[in-house]
Parts: sequence; structure tokens; C-alpha cells
Amino acid sequence: MDIRIGNGYDVHALSPGLPMWLGGVRIPSETGFVAHSDGDVAIHALCDALLGCLALGDIGHLFPDTSDEWKGADSKLLLEKVVALVHEKGYTVGNVDITIALQKPKLSPHIAQMRTVLAGILCVGEDRVSVKATTTERLGFVGRCEGCEVWATALIRS
Ligand code: MG
Repeated sequence: MDIRIGNGYDVHALSPGLPMWLGGVRIPSETGFVAHSDGDVAIHALCDALLGCLALGDIGHLFPDTSDEWKGADSKLLLEKVVALVHEKGYTVGNVDITIALQKPKLSPHIAQMRTVLAGILCVGEDRVSVKATTTERLGFVGRCEGCEVWATALIRS
């Protein structure tokens, strides 16, 4: 058995009047993410963690933001493609752990749904998908509600 780990990191800026997608779930919010795709910064970090496991580059390389194909793209489809790559290489997902830093809105009511959605795409049980949320105590760009920052770790095994 081969075991591999990877990490991913992403940031998106917030702007009023845009939809907020996080972890595959639409979050009711007065602000949303500025992005070429739907801006799901949690899924982007997770994709990079999975790609990092296999040293396959990053999602910017796989799904260029200069391409019309990915304009406004549902990030769940990007994650599906990355998971397909993992499976093609002979691996399955062991577990993932995601930390979202966002000042507002509160994400706790949405964590369970994010875990369900992500577990479905990753083809694993929800007990293998951890999603955690924190504020930054009003410090930095996250604290000033200018953006959202996400770290993700993934483990895959053959
Ligand atoms: Mg991104």
C-alpha cells in the first residue's frame, strides 16, 4: 500500500452582491467571492491538496482562469475531475481536513451539509471529511471581511 498526503491553500476576495459558495454549499450572505469560477475557495484548496498528493500541479494549471470553459464553473465539477484523476492513478481518498477562515457569516449551520456534499464527490463516508471554520478575531484581511482563506489537507492510498 502506498500512502500520500498533500496540502492546499486558497484565498478569494469578497464583494457585495455575489453568491457565496463554500464546500459545495450555497451560503446565505450579503457578500460572495470574486472569481472566474463560482469562487468556492474551500473546494479549490481541497482540489490542490488532492493534486499535491500526486504532484500533479494545481487547479490553476488544470483549469486555467483564462479558459471560457471554466468561466462561472461549478467547483463541484472541478473536484469531480480531480477525484477521477486520483482514481485513475490507482488511489482512493483516505480522509480530508479543511479549515475555513471567514469573519462572517457564521458557517457552523452549514458544516454538516458541506461534509455530506464533499463526501459524496470524494466517494468516502462523512466521517472521513472534516470541515472546520474559524474567524480571525477581526484581524487581517479576513477579519476586515475582505476575503476568505482556506487550508486543506488530503490523504490518499493505493
Ligand atoms: Mg481559487
